[in-house]
Amino acid sequence: MTATLTDFHPLAESVQPVFDTVLARSPHEPEFQQAVHEVLGTIAPVLEKHPEYVEAGILDRVVEPERQIMFRVPWVDDAGRLQVNRGYRIQFSSVLGPYKGGLRFHPSVNLSIIKFLGFEQIFKNALTGQGIGGAKGGSDFDPHGRSEAEVMRFCQSFMSELYRHLGEHTDVPAGDIGVGGREIGYLFGAYRKITNRHESGMFTGKGTGWGGAEVRTEATGYGAVFFAQEMLAVRGDSFEGKRVGISGSGNVAIYAIQKATQLGATAVTASDSSGYVVDDAGIDLELLRQIKEVERGRIVEYANRRASARFVEGGSVWDVPVDIAVPSATQNELSLADAESLIGNGVLAVSEGANMPCVPDAVAAFQRAGVLFAPGKAANAGGVATSALEMSQNASRQRWTFGDSENKLREIMSDIHRAAFDAAEKYDVGGDYVAGANIAAFQRVAAAMLAQGVI
Ligand code: NDP
Repeated sequence: MTATLTDFHPLAESVQPVFDTVLARSPHEPEFQQAVHEVLGTIAPVLEKHPEYVEAGILDRVVEPERQIMFRVPWVDDAGRLQVNRGYRIQFSSVLGPYKGGLRFHPSVNLSIIKFLGFEQIFKNALTGQGIGGAKGGSDFDPHGRSEAEVMRFCQSFMSELYRHLGEHTDVPAGDIGVGGREIGYLFGAYRKITNRHESGMFTGKGTGWGGAEVRTEATGYGAVFFAQEMLAVRGDSFEGKRVGISGSGNVAIYAIQKATQLGATAVTASDSSGYVVDDAGIDLELLRQIKEVERGRIVEYANRRASARFVEGGSVWDVPVDIAVPSATQNELSLADAESLIGNGVLAVSEGANMPCVPDAVAAFQRAGVLFAPGKAANAGGVATSALEMSQNASRQRWTFGDSENKLREIMSDIHRAAFDAAEKYDVGGDYVAGANIAAFQRVAAAMLAQGVI
Protein backbone atom coordinates (compact mmCIF):
# COMPACT_ATOMS: atom_id res chain seq x y z
CA MET A 1 0.00 0.00 0.00
CA THR A 2 2.81 2.41 0.83
CA ALA A 3 4.25 4.10 -2.26
CA THR A 4 7.99 4.67 -2.52
CA LEU A 5 9.49 8.01 -3.33
CA THR A 6 12.43 7.96 -5.70
CA ASP A 7 13.35 11.58 -6.26
CA PHE A 8 12.35 15.19 -5.61
CA HIS A 9 11.88 17.93 -8.17
CA PRO A 10 14.23 20.90 -7.75
CA LEU A 11 13.10 23.76 -5.52
CA ALA A 12 13.49 27.54 -5.81
CA GLU A 13 17.05 28.79 -5.25
CA SER A 14 16.08 30.43 -1.97
CA VAL A 15 15.00 27.15 -0.36
CA GLN A 16 17.00 24.41 -2.12
CA PRO A 17 20.04 24.75 0.23
CA VAL A 18 17.78 24.15 3.24
CA PHE A 19 16.44 21.01 1.62
CA ASP A 20 19.95 19.85 0.72
CA THR A 21 20.88 20.12 4.39
CA VAL A 22 17.83 18.08 5.37
CA LEU A 23 18.79 15.38 2.84
CA ALA A 24 22.39 15.35 4.13
CA ARG A 25 21.41 15.30 7.82
CA SER A 26 18.52 12.88 7.52
CA PRO A 27 19.42 10.60 4.61
CA HIS A 28 17.31 7.66 5.78
CA GLU A 29 14.12 9.58 6.50
CA PRO A 30 12.04 9.55 3.29
CA GLU A 31 8.72 10.56 4.87
CA PHE A 32 10.34 13.47 6.69
CA GLN A 33 12.07 14.57 3.47
CA GLN A 34 8.75 14.35 1.61
CA ALA A 35 6.93 16.53 4.17
CA VAL A 36 9.70 19.15 4.19
CA HIS A 37 9.88 19.20 0.38
CA GLU A 38 6.15 19.86 0.15
CA VAL A 39 6.32 22.86 2.47
CA LEU A 40 9.51 24.30 0.96
CA GLY A 41 8.03 23.87 -2.52
CA THR A 42 5.33 26.44 -1.79
CA ILE A 43 6.80 29.13 0.43
CA ALA A 44 9.57 30.69 -1.70
CA PRO A 45 7.29 33.64 -2.63
CA VAL A 46 6.89 34.44 1.08
CA LEU A 47 10.67 34.61 1.49
CA GLU A 48 10.89 36.98 -1.46
CA LYS A 49 8.48 39.35 0.28
CA HIS A 50 10.16 38.87 3.66
CA PRO A 51 13.96 38.85 3.33
CA GLU A 52 14.12 39.24 7.12
CA TYR A 53 12.99 35.60 7.41
CA VAL A 54 15.99 34.51 5.35
CA GLU A 55 18.37 36.66 7.38
CA ALA A 56 17.05 35.22 10.62
CA GLY A 57 17.50 31.68 9.31
CA ILE A 58 13.85 30.83 9.97
CA LEU A 59 13.81 27.93 7.52
CA ASP A 60 17.16 26.52 8.64
CA ARG A 61 15.79 26.41 12.17
CA VAL A 62 12.25 25.24 11.54
CA VAL A 63 13.35 22.02 9.79
CA GLU A 64 15.40 20.97 12.83
CA PRO A 65 13.40 19.68 15.84
CA GLU A 66 13.96 21.55 19.09
CA ARG A 67 14.34 18.23 20.90
CA GLN A 68 14.23 14.53 19.94
CA ILE A 69 13.61 11.88 22.55
CA MET A 70 14.06 8.16 21.86
CA PHE A 71 13.77 5.58 24.58
CA ARG A 72 13.55 1.88 25.41
CA VAL A 73 10.13 0.49 26.34
CA PRO A 74 10.54 -2.91 28.04
CA TRP A 75 7.45 -4.85 29.11
CA VAL A 76 6.37 -8.42 29.81
CA ASP A 77 3.73 -10.16 27.66
CA ASP A 78 1.02 -12.55 28.89
CA ALA A 79 3.29 -15.55 28.31
CA GLY A 80 5.90 -14.04 30.64
CA ARG A 81 8.27 -13.16 27.78
CA LEU A 82 10.20 -9.89 27.80
CA GLN A 83 9.37 -7.54 24.92
CA VAL A 84 11.27 -4.42 23.95
CA ASN A 85 9.85 -1.61 21.82
CA ARG A 86 11.20 1.80 20.94
CA GLY A 87 9.48 5.00 22.07
CA TYR A 88 9.73 8.44 20.45
CA ARG A 89 8.75 12.01 21.19
CA ILE A 90 9.84 14.65 18.70
CA GLN A 91 9.29 18.11 20.18
CA PHE A 92 9.52 20.08 16.98
CA SER A 93 8.52 23.64 17.79
CA SER A 94 7.16 25.42 20.86
CA VAL A 95 7.23 28.90 19.36
CA LEU A 96 3.43 29.21 19.25
CA GLY A 97 2.63 27.33 22.46
CA PRO A 98 3.32 24.09 24.38
CA TYR A 99 4.30 21.14 22.19
CA LYS A 100 1.11 19.45 20.96
CA GLY A 101 0.58 16.37 18.81
CA GLY A 102 -0.52 12.75 18.99
CA LEU A 103 1.10 9.44 19.85
CA ARG A 104 1.06 6.65 17.25
CA PHE A 105 1.40 2.95 18.12
CA HIS A 106 1.99 0.99 14.91
CA PRO A 107 4.70 -1.48 13.83
CA SER A 108 5.74 0.84 10.97
CA VAL A 109 6.66 3.67 13.35
CA ASN A 110 10.23 4.92 13.01
CA LEU A 111 12.11 8.19 13.38
CA SER A 112 11.28 9.34 9.83
CA ILE A 113 7.55 8.88 10.30
CA ILE A 114 7.45 10.61 13.68
CA LYS A 115 9.56 13.51 12.34
CA PHE A 116 7.33 13.96 9.28
CA LEU A 117 4.27 14.00 11.52
CA GLY A 118 5.89 16.40 13.99
CA PHE A 119 6.94 18.75 11.20
CA GLU A 120 3.42 18.77 9.71
CA GLN A 121 2.03 19.38 13.16
CA ILE A 122 3.84 22.72 13.52
CA PHE A 123 1.99 24.16 10.54
CA LYS A 124 -1.31 22.42 11.21
CA ASN A 125 -1.37 23.77 14.74
CA ALA A 126 -0.46 27.25 13.50
CA LEU A 127 -3.47 27.12 11.15
CA THR A 128 -5.84 26.47 14.05
CA GLY A 129 -4.90 29.84 15.57
CA GLN A 130 -5.06 28.21 19.02
CA GLY A 131 -1.57 28.87 20.46
CA ILE A 132 -0.11 25.35 20.30
CA GLY A 133 3.33 24.18 19.20
CA GLY A 134 4.13 21.06 17.14
CA ALA A 135 5.22 17.59 18.29
CA LYS A 136 4.55 13.92 17.62
CA GLY A 137 5.47 10.66 19.30
CA GLY A 138 4.75 7.00 19.49
CA SER A 139 6.19 3.55 19.33
CA ASP A 140 6.62 0.56 17.02
CA PHE A 141 4.38 -1.38 19.43
CA ASP A 142 1.44 -3.06 17.67
CA PRO A 143 -1.72 -3.17 19.81
CA HIS A 144 -3.47 -5.52 17.32
CA GLY A 145 -3.99 -8.92 18.87
CA ARG A 146 -2.65 -7.87 22.27
CA SER A 147 -4.72 -8.47 25.41
CA GLU A 148 -6.05 -5.59 27.50
CA ALA A 149 -3.45 -6.40 30.16
CA GLU A 150 -0.61 -6.32 27.63
CA VAL A 151 -1.73 -2.96 26.23
CA MET A 152 -1.95 -1.58 29.76
CA ARG A 153 1.51 -2.83 30.75
CA PHE A 154 2.99 -1.41 27.57
CA CYS A 155 1.35 1.99 28.16
CA GLN A 156 2.62 2.06 31.75
CA SER A 157 6.19 1.27 30.68
CA PHE A 158 5.99 3.85 27.87
CA MET A 159 4.82 6.54 30.28
CA SER A 160 7.45 5.64 32.90
CA GLU A 161 9.93 7.42 30.63
CA LEU A 162 7.77 9.90 28.72
CA TYR A 163 6.17 11.50 31.79
CA ARG A 164 9.28 13.56 32.58
CA HIS A 165 8.99 15.36 29.23
CA LEU A 166 5.28 16.23 29.51
CA GLY A 167 3.12 18.78 31.29
CA GLU A 168 0.25 21.14 30.57
CA HIS A 169 2.63 24.03 29.82
CA THR A 170 5.35 21.87 28.26
CA ASP A 171 4.06 19.09 26.03
CA VAL A 172 0.50 17.77 25.68
CA PRO A 173 0.06 14.51 23.72
CA ALA A 174 -3.14 13.02 22.25
CA GLY A 175 -4.08 9.92 20.22
CA ASP A 176 -3.28 8.89 16.65
CA ILE A 177 -3.14 5.52 14.86
CA GLY A 178 -3.36 2.75 17.45
CA VAL A 179 -3.90 5.18 20.33
CA GLY A 180 -7.58 5.70 21.13
CA GLY A 181 -9.60 6.19 24.30
CA ARG A 182 -8.38 2.93 25.87
CA GLU A 183 -4.68 3.72 25.46
CA ILE A 184 -5.13 7.35 26.53
CA GLY A 185 -6.80 6.09 29.73
CA TYR A 186 -3.86 3.83 30.59
CA LEU A 187 -1.28 6.48 29.68
CA PHE A 188 -3.02 9.18 31.70
CA GLY A 189 -3.44 6.82 34.65
CA ALA A 190 0.28 6.03 34.64
CA TYR A 191 1.19 9.74 34.46
CA ARG A 192 -1.11 10.53 37.38
CA LYS A 193 0.39 7.76 39.50
CA ILE A 194 4.02 8.63 38.76
CA THR A 195 3.67 12.38 39.22
CA ASN A 196 0.99 12.38 41.94
CA ARG A 197 -0.84 15.04 39.92
CA HIS A 198 -4.26 14.83 38.28
CA GLU A 199 -3.11 17.25 35.63
CA SER A 200 -6.02 17.17 33.16
CA GLY A 201 -4.35 19.57 30.77
CA MET A 202 -1.36 17.30 30.04
CA PHE A 203 -3.29 14.95 27.72
CA THR A 204 -6.19 15.46 25.33
CA GLY A 205 -8.69 12.93 24.04
CA LYS A 206 -9.51 11.91 27.62
CA GLY A 207 -12.82 10.27 28.50
CA THR A 208 -15.60 12.83 28.89
CA GLY A 209 -16.13 11.64 32.48
CA TRP A 210 -12.59 12.62 33.55
CA GLY A 211 -11.66 15.84 31.80
CA GLY A 212 -12.25 15.03 28.14
CA ALA A 213 -14.08 17.45 25.86
CA GLU A 214 -17.22 16.76 23.89
CA VAL A 215 -16.59 16.30 20.14
CA ARG A 216 -12.84 15.55 20.53
CA THR A 217 -13.45 11.96 19.42
CA GLU A 218 -15.44 13.07 16.38
CA ALA A 219 -13.44 16.20 15.58
CA THR A 220 -10.88 15.04 13.01
CA GLY A 221 -13.38 13.16 10.83
CA TYR A 222 -16.04 15.86 11.17
CA GLY A 223 -13.46 18.55 10.46
CA ALA A 224 -12.24 16.90 7.24
CA VAL A 225 -15.84 16.82 6.02
CA PHE A 226 -16.48 20.43 7.09
CA PHE A 227 -13.38 21.50 5.15
CA ALA A 228 -14.61 19.68 2.03
CA GLN A 229 -18.00 21.33 2.54
CA GLU A 230 -16.30 24.77 2.53
CA MET A 231 -14.38 23.96 -0.67
CA LEU A 232 -17.54 22.69 -2.40
CA ALA A 233 -19.45 25.80 -1.31
CA VAL A 234 -16.93 27.97 -3.19
CA ARG A 235 -18.17 26.21 -6.32
CA GLY A 236 -21.80 26.40 -5.25
CA ASP A 237 -21.90 22.68 -4.46
CA SER A 238 -22.51 20.52 -1.36
CA PHE A 239 -22.48 16.96 0.04
CA GLU A 240 -26.18 16.48 -0.67
CA GLY A 241 -26.73 13.39 -2.83
CA LYS A 242 -23.00 12.69 -3.34
CA ARG A 243 -21.19 9.35 -3.11
CA VAL A 244 -18.28 9.57 -0.69
CA GLY A 245 -15.28 7.21 -0.59
CA ILE A 246 -13.45 6.86 2.71
CA SER A 247 -10.41 4.74 3.52
CA GLY A 248 -9.60 3.39 6.95
CA SER A 249 -12.10 2.36 9.60
CA GLY A 250 -10.57 3.96 12.66
CA ASN A 251 -11.29 7.15 14.53
CA VAL A 252 -11.01 9.57 11.60
CA ALA A 253 -12.82 7.35 9.06
CA ILE A 254 -15.76 6.51 11.31
CA TYR A 255 -16.63 10.11 12.10
CA ALA A 256 -16.01 11.30 8.52
CA ILE A 257 -18.58 8.68 7.48
CA GLN A 258 -20.99 9.91 10.14
CA LYS A 259 -20.75 13.59 9.20
CA ALA A 260 -20.89 12.98 5.43
CA THR A 261 -24.04 10.91 5.98
CA GLN A 262 -25.59 13.61 8.19
CA LEU A 263 -24.96 16.10 5.38
CA GLY A 264 -27.03 14.03 2.95
CA ALA A 265 -24.28 12.06 1.22
CA THR A 266 -23.87 8.28 0.94
CA ALA A 267 -20.56 7.02 2.31
CA VAL A 268 -19.90 3.83 0.34
CA THR A 269 -16.48 2.52 1.43
CA ALA A 270 -14.34 1.72 4.47
CA SER A 271 -11.07 -0.23 4.71
CA ASP A 272 -8.31 -1.57 6.91
CA SER A 273 -4.95 -3.13 6.19
CA SER A 274 -6.64 -6.38 5.09
CA GLY A 275 -8.83 -4.88 2.31
CA TYR A 276 -11.90 -2.74 1.78
CA VAL A 277 -15.70 -2.96 1.73
CA VAL A 278 -18.13 -1.33 -0.71
CA ASP A 279 -21.68 -0.77 0.43
CA ASP A 280 -23.79 1.02 -2.18
CA ALA A 281 -26.64 1.31 0.33
CA GLY A 282 -24.39 3.46 2.53
CA ILE A 283 -22.10 2.31 5.35
CA ASP A 284 -24.09 1.19 8.40
CA LEU A 285 -22.22 3.16 11.03
CA GLU A 286 -23.52 1.26 14.04
CA LEU A 287 -22.39 -2.04 12.52
CA LEU A 288 -18.98 -0.62 11.60
CA ARG A 289 -18.50 0.79 15.10
CA GLN A 290 -19.56 -2.49 16.70
CA ILE A 291 -16.96 -4.39 14.67
CA LYS A 292 -14.14 -1.84 14.92
CA GLU A 293 -14.62 -0.10 18.26
CA VAL A 294 -16.20 -2.86 20.35
CA GLU A 295 -15.00 -6.16 18.87
CA ARG A 296 -11.75 -4.76 17.40
CA GLY A 297 -12.37 -7.06 14.42
CA ARG A 298 -11.37 -6.99 10.74
CA ILE A 299 -13.28 -5.16 8.01
CA VAL A 300 -14.35 -8.40 6.26
CA GLU A 301 -16.75 -8.92 9.17
CA TYR A 302 -18.77 -5.94 7.94
CA ALA A 303 -19.44 -7.61 4.58
CA ASN A 304 -20.20 -10.92 6.32
CA ARG A 305 -23.02 -9.25 8.29
CA ARG A 306 -24.43 -6.82 5.71
CA ALA A 307 -26.20 -8.04 2.57
CA SER A 308 -25.62 -4.86 0.54
CA ALA A 309 -21.83 -4.93 1.11
CA ARG A 310 -18.97 -6.80 -0.51
CA PHE A 311 -15.40 -7.26 0.69
CA VAL A 312 -12.45 -6.80 -1.66
CA GLU A 313 -9.10 -8.24 -0.59
CA GLY A 314 -6.15 -6.46 -2.16
CA GLY A 315 -6.88 -3.95 -4.93
CA SER A 316 -7.49 -0.31 -4.17
CA VAL A 317 -10.43 1.31 -2.46
CA TRP A 318 -9.92 4.25 -4.84
CA ASP A 319 -11.12 2.16 -7.79
CA VAL A 320 -14.67 2.62 -6.45
CA PRO A 321 -16.41 5.52 -8.28
CA VAL A 322 -17.12 8.40 -5.88
CA ASP A 323 -17.76 12.15 -6.04
CA ILE A 324 -15.80 13.03 -2.89
CA ALA A 325 -12.81 11.15 -1.40
CA VAL A 326 -11.63 11.38 2.21
CA PRO A 327 -8.47 9.26 2.60
CA SER A 328 -8.34 8.55 6.34
CA ALA A 329 -5.95 5.63 6.91
CA THR A 330 -2.24 6.45 6.67
CA GLN A 331 0.57 8.23 4.80
CA ASN A 332 1.15 7.55 1.09
CA GLU A 333 -1.89 5.29 0.79
CA LEU A 334 -3.21 6.99 -2.37
CA SER A 335 -0.89 6.56 -5.41
CA LEU A 336 -0.80 8.35 -8.77
CA ALA A 337 -2.70 5.40 -10.30
CA ASP A 338 -5.35 5.80 -7.60
CA ALA A 339 -5.61 9.53 -8.34
CA GLU A 340 -6.00 8.80 -12.06
CA SER A 341 -8.71 6.28 -11.31
CA LEU A 342 -10.59 8.76 -9.08
CA ILE A 343 -10.23 11.52 -11.70
CA GLY A 344 -11.42 9.12 -14.44
CA ASN A 345 -14.50 8.44 -12.34
CA GLY A 346 -15.22 12.18 -12.02
CA VAL A 347 -14.17 12.91 -8.43
CA LEU A 348 -14.95 16.53 -7.46
CA ALA A 349 -13.10 16.95 -4.17
CA VAL A 350 -10.46 15.19 -2.08
CA SER A 351 -10.05 16.07 1.61
CA GLU A 352 -7.15 14.42 3.44
CA GLY A 353 -8.41 13.04 6.76
CA ALA A 354 -5.10 11.26 7.31
CA ASN A 355 -1.68 12.90 7.37
CA MET A 356 -0.07 12.99 3.90
CA PRO A 357 -2.16 10.09 2.50
CA CYS A 358 -1.72 11.22 -1.12
CA VAL A 359 1.71 10.85 -2.74
CA PRO A 360 3.02 14.10 -4.29
CA ASP A 361 2.29 12.95 -7.87
CA ALA A 362 -1.29 12.20 -6.90
CA VAL A 363 -1.70 15.69 -5.42
CA ALA A 364 -0.29 17.22 -8.61
CA ALA A 365 -2.67 15.12 -10.72
CA PHE A 366 -5.70 16.27 -8.72
CA GLN A 367 -4.63 19.89 -9.03
CA ARG A 368 -4.00 19.59 -12.79
CA ALA A 369 -7.44 18.06 -13.25
CA GLY A 370 -9.12 20.91 -11.33
CA VAL A 371 -10.21 18.63 -8.47
CA LEU A 372 -10.66 20.52 -5.19
CA PHE A 373 -7.82 19.22 -3.01
CA ALA A 374 -7.41 19.84 0.73
CA PRO A 375 -4.06 18.90 2.33
CA GLY A 376 -4.18 17.10 5.67
CA LYS A 377 -2.50 19.89 7.61
CA ALA A 378 -5.58 22.01 6.92
CA ALA A 379 -8.33 19.43 6.46
CA ASN A 380 -7.58 17.26 9.50
CA ALA A 381 -6.69 20.13 11.85
CA GLY A 382 -10.10 19.86 13.52
CA GLY A 383 -8.80 17.17 15.86
CA VAL A 384 -5.97 19.19 17.31
CA ALA A 385 -8.07 22.36 17.31
CA THR A 386 -10.62 20.58 19.49
CA SER A 387 -7.78 19.31 21.65
CA ALA A 388 -6.87 22.94 22.25
CA LEU A 389 -10.49 23.56 23.24
CA GLU A 390 -10.16 20.63 25.67
CA MET A 391 -7.07 22.30 27.16
CA SER A 392 -9.00 25.59 27.59
CA GLN A 393 -11.89 23.79 29.29
CA ASN A 394 -9.45 21.96 31.59
CA ALA A 395 -7.70 25.21 32.51
CA SER A 396 -10.95 27.01 33.32
CA ARG A 397 -12.73 23.91 34.74
CA GLN A 398 -15.60 24.41 32.30
CA ARG A 399 -17.53 21.89 30.24
CA TRP A 400 -19.04 22.84 26.92
CA THR A 401 -22.00 20.99 25.42
CA PHE A 402 -21.71 18.81 22.32
CA GLY A 403 -23.62 21.39 20.28
CA ASP A 404 -21.44 24.33 21.37
CA SER A 405 -18.27 22.34 20.71
CA GLU A 406 -19.41 21.23 17.26
CA ASN A 407 -20.33 24.80 16.34
CA LYS A 408 -16.91 25.97 17.47
CA LEU A 409 -15.26 23.22 15.38
CA ARG A 410 -17.28 24.24 12.32
CA GLU A 411 -16.22 27.86 12.84
CA ILE A 412 -12.54 26.88 13.18
CA MET A 413 -12.64 24.78 10.00
CA SER A 414 -14.26 27.66 8.17
CA ASP A 415 -11.51 30.01 9.44
CA ILE A 416 -8.78 27.58 8.34
CA HIS A 417 -10.39 27.29 4.91
CA ARG A 418 -10.58 31.06 4.66
CA ALA A 419 -6.92 31.50 5.72
CA ALA A 420 -5.70 28.96 3.13
CA PHE A 421 -8.00 30.30 0.42
CA ASP A 422 -7.00 33.94 1.00
CA ALA A 423 -3.27 33.19 1.20
CA ALA A 424 -3.45 31.34 -2.12
CA GLU A 425 -5.28 34.28 -3.72
CA LYS A 426 -2.79 36.79 -2.29
CA TYR A 427 0.18 34.88 -3.71
CA ASP A 428 -1.43 34.35 -7.15
CA VAL A 429 -2.00 30.64 -6.75
CA GLY A 430 -5.77 30.88 -6.30
CA GLY A 431 -7.48 27.57 -5.58
CA ASP A 432 -4.22 25.86 -4.53
CA TYR A 433 -5.02 24.89 -0.94
CA VAL A 434 -1.64 23.18 -0.48
CA ALA A 435 0.24 26.40 -1.15
CA GLY A 436 -2.37 28.49 0.67
CA ALA A 437 -2.24 26.38 3.84
CA ASN A 438 1.56 26.28 3.87
CA ILE A 439 1.89 30.02 3.30
CA ALA A 440 -0.71 30.99 5.91
CA ALA A 441 0.81 28.66 8.50
CA PHE A 442 4.43 29.48 7.74
CA GLN A 443 3.79 33.21 8.11
CA ARG A 444 2.38 32.71 11.61
CA VAL A 445 5.31 30.51 12.67
CA ALA A 446 7.96 32.71 11.06
CA ALA A 447 6.61 35.92 12.59
CA ALA A 448 6.70 34.37 16.08
CA MET A 449 10.22 32.99 15.56
CA LEU A 450 11.44 36.36 14.41
CA ALA A 451 9.90 38.10 17.43
CA GLN A 452 11.38 35.58 19.90
CA GLY A 453 14.97 35.82 18.62
CA VAL A 454 17.55 33.16 17.82
CA ILE A 455 16.69 30.43 20.27
P1 NDP B 1 -6.89 4.53 13.91
O1 NDP B 1 -5.83 3.69 14.50
O2 NDP B 1 -8.14 4.79 14.68
O3 NDP B 1 -7.33 3.96 12.48
C1 NDP B 1 -6.39 3.80 11.46
C2 NDP B 1 -7.07 3.10 10.31
O4 NDP B 1 -6.20 3.11 9.18
C3 NDP B 1 -7.38 1.63 10.60
O5 NDP B 1 -8.50 1.25 9.86
C4 NDP B 1 -6.12 0.93 10.07
O6 NDP B 1 -6.32 -0.42 9.68
C5 NDP B 1 -5.81 1.78 8.85
N1 NDP B 1 -4.36 1.73 8.61
C6 NDP B 1 -3.38 2.19 9.41
N2 NDP B 1 -2.17 1.94 8.89
C7 NDP B 1 -2.42 1.30 7.75
C8 NDP B 1 -1.58 0.78 6.74
N3 NDP B 1 -0.23 0.88 6.82
N4 NDP B 1 -2.17 0.18 5.69
C9 NDP B 1 -3.53 0.08 5.61
N5 NDP B 1 -4.37 0.56 6.52
C10 NDP B 1 -3.81 1.15 7.57
O7 NDP B 1 -6.17 5.92 13.51
P2 NDP B 1 -6.83 7.35 13.25
O8 NDP B 1 -8.14 7.17 12.57
O9 NDP B 1 -6.73 8.13 14.49
O10 NDP B 1 -5.78 7.99 12.22
C11 NDP B 1 -5.89 7.84 10.81
C12 NDP B 1 -5.07 8.91 10.13
O11 NDP B 1 -5.54 10.21 10.52
C13 NDP B 1 -3.57 8.92 10.45
O12 NDP B 1 -2.85 9.37 9.32
C14 NDP B 1 -3.46 9.96 11.54
O13 NDP B 1 -2.17 10.52 11.63
C15 NDP B 1 -4.47 10.98 11.02
N6 NDP B 1 -4.96 11.92 12.02
C16 NDP B 1 -5.62 11.47 13.14
C17 NDP B 1 -6.09 12.36 14.06
C18 NDP B 1 -6.92 11.94 15.23
O14 NDP B 1 -7.47 12.84 15.89
N7 NDP B 1 -7.07 10.68 15.52
C19 NDP B 1 -5.83 13.82 13.93
C20 NDP B 1 -5.22 14.18 12.67
C21 NDP B 1 -4.78 13.25 11.79
P3 NDP B 1 -5.63 -1.60 10.55
O15 NDP B 1 -6.43 -1.65 11.82
O16 NDP B 1 -5.77 -2.81 9.71
O17 NDP B 1 -4.20 -1.20 10.79
